[in-house]
Amino acid sequence: MGNMLGLAAVVAGGIALALLLPIPFSRPSPGKVPVSPQSFSWPVMGTVAELNIRGAGEKAAEEARALAGDAFRLVETNLSVFVADSLVARLNRGENVRVAADGPFATVARFALETAEASGGAFDPTVNPLMRVWGFRGGIPAVPSPAALSNALATVGWRRLILSPTSNGDLLTSSGGAEVDFGAIAKGYAVDCAYDALVANGFTNFLINLGGNIRVCGSPAPDRADWNIAVRDPSGRKPPSPLPRPLRSGEAVATSGSYERFVEIDGRRYSHIIDPRTGLPVDNGLGSVSVIAPTAMEADACSTALFVLGLKAGAAFLAARPGCTAAFIEQ
Ligand code: AMP
Ligand code: MG
Repeated sequence: MGNMLGLAAVVAGGIALALLLPIPFSRPSPGKVPVSPQSFSWPVMGTVAELNIRGAGEKAAEEARALAGDAFRLVETNLSVFVADSLVARLNRGENVRVAADGPFATVARFALETAEASGGAFDPTVNPLMRVWGFRGGIPAVPSPAALSNALATVGWRRLILSPTSNGDLLTSSGGAEVDFGAIAKGYAVDCAYDALVANGFTNFLINLGGNIRVCGSPAPDRADWNIAVRDPSGRKPPSPLPRPLRSGEAVATSGSYERFVEIDGRRYSHIIDPRTGLPVDNGLGSVSVIAPTAMEADACSTALFVLGLKAGAAFLAARPGCTAAFIEQ
């Protein structure tokens, strides 16, 4: 059964550069001659990627960084709504897309649809038209007119996306003008891809982070088994708070927050997470939700779903997810 923990109430506001702060590797104990831990960070998918790796030589660590970079690029090329020729962009232009059943698109689409159903539509991978009317896809942000909002809402609905197995891969079709947006899940999936690539290549102790979607492997230090991760305060005024528990090897954590990305209209901030049932940016008093899960894709999808559901409805959603722990921080 999933667990949840409410963290201290705080005041809203403030822009965070990163939602989650990995506590750095501890210094090696004196007397040994270990290879020093190495850290890399680089821009990708509109955010910052970070790799901390321990016990690998300089050349091997560079290779690990390249493997992670390749994994992120591959996911972006396939799944980003912002890449003109991505499968997502093609689907949104009205094409039906045929994809490998175990490839990135089908894997993410399947999990997104499962999360949509489990959350009663609070998580919805067809929110793109709503993102557009609120100004998250370019143009000047403005509160949409009731007509614009209801036109956008009329095309939203995860049941319009159908993934059908065929003898030649999975076929994804959309109907009724539905558009795909995997923004709430693709970064987590990308972290899992990078994690798998590193493990397959023999790397055993590392932390990989893509814009607040973190997964850890091995241990942070020879004398420490678990990873301590802190969550940034949504207001930026209080110190970061520790997650409900440290991460064990293989686990992931993701945070969704209204302060992470927003548009400002007439001096008021509107969250980039939209309630698909109303078409309105989420405004439920939460500052952020962090979820610890067995994979980064699950953590990513669940943190967005719980941010929309809120504490009360979120409890039932979480109860059905073994291995997940959530921390809610109020605004
Ligand atoms: P995250 O930062 O993982 O919580 O994802 C937020 C992003 O997911 C937004 O920038 C949108 O692209 C997309 N999104 C917004 N609202 C929803 C929602 N209710 N369900 C699924 N995706 C959403
Ligand atoms: Mg998410």
